[in-house]
Amino acid sequence: MSIILSDRVKRLSPSATLAMSQRSSELKAQGIDIINMSVGEPDFNTPDHIKAAAKKAVDDNYTRYSPVPGYPELRKAIVNKLKNENNLEYTTDQIIVSNGAKQSVCNAIMALVSNGDEVIIPAPYWVSYPQMVLMADGTPVFVEAKIEADFKITPEQLEATITDKTKMLILCSPCNPTGSVYTQKEMEGLAEVLRKYQNVYVICDEIYEHINYTGEHASLASCEGMKERCIIVNGVSKAYAMTGWRIGYIAAPIEIAKACNKLQGQYTSGPCSVSQIAAVEAYNASQDCVEEMRKAFERRKNLIVKLCKEIPGFEVNDPKGAFYLFPKCSYYFGKTDGKRVINNSTDFAMYLLEEGHVAAVGGDAFGSAECFRMSYATSDENIIEAIRRIKEAVAKLK
Ligand code: PMP
Ligand code: GLU
Repeated sequence: MSIILSDRVKRLSPSATLAMSQRSSELKAQGIDIINMSVGEPDFNTPDHIKAAAKKAVDDNYTRYSPVPGYPELRKAIVNKLKNENNLEYTTDQIIVSNGAKQSVCNAIMALVSNGDEVIIPAPYWVSYPQMVLMADGTPVFVEAKIEADFKITPEQLEATITDKTKMLILCSPCNPTGSVYTQKEMEGLAEVLRKYQNVYVICDEIYEHINYTGEHASLASCEGMKERCIIVNGVSKAYAMTGWRIGYIAAPIEIAKACNKLQGQYTSGPCSVSQIAAVEAYNASQDCVEEMRKAFERRKNLIVKLCKEIPGFEVNDPKGAFYLFPKCSYYFGKTDGKRVINNSTDFAMYLLEEGHVAAVGGDAFGSAECFRMSYATSDENIIEAIRRIKEAVAKLK
């Protein structure tokens, strides 16, 4: 007898990024030399001073339940960070710390979205946004941002998509999967539209804030009238190479923070105690490590963009942040190597994996059928070799 699962689970797709990474690990375990550019996480180890703080936290017996929204010292460190780096004033009770920015995004969606509410998601988008909206019984509504527009939506597109059912916009800048970064001026343009629609909230996913090659990070929350309706999501995963520690946070209007606290109190409790103390150190100590890693990502970005532009049929934007490249590969759709036909970007990514031994993710999962995503959070040598393999593999497609 088969088990009848919930409708909720049945309407979800598994995470394509995590699935591809898993597939790549399996092939590696079989002894195949795979270059994994599928999952998005820094390849650096967590800096030593942060690890030392965590070791001390264990000895200091940070081993019990933490308060549900996180330790006061961490929430205070986040308040200081928002003030010093973003010029935004928050109080500690507006900060809720969670098990990674992923839970922070999900909490905010669960706290605000009800059955039938529409959530506007610019496409290409991070794979989990629409799935989380579906989990909350909401309806994802996509606005397409094309490569020609540097994958950014315009105020006109936003306004044309807002209806009386719109509850929320999810904006990610720097963006996963495109690396696009909205300027302050572009944020002001979106804010001008949003000011007309007082019931629309915005999740500002700023998890890639510090992996930015423009020198300017613009937060929608800094635009007039927006802070009251923005939920900033950020965390330590990407800036401090701490993906496994699972610490993210929201900074939000107090009612929304309280709602997320209530959800989290029933669902997961406060996040890992030791990781929180490590995060306090990440925020309060010198930020030199962040800049060092940012510089390495920028160098690799320049390298991968240059190499990818040499591949016939690829169209490439110049990402301004994050550590992803999202080339258009639709030139190869309908072509074959004699064994299989490439019909879409998922087929293309699978072909690269099987033929080129490079793991990437098809754009379909990110709402962009014409492109595919590579994470360049890997060594220069891996980037050079991966692009060489891809070039060789696509040359066989006729
Ligand atoms: N938002 C975006 C856009 C991401 O790429 C990620 C990385 N998975 C997250 C949120 C979640 O980050 P975390 O690892 O802190 O849960
Ligand atoms: N942010 C990463 C990615 O997009 C991590 C994987 C995930 O959480 O989906 O690949």
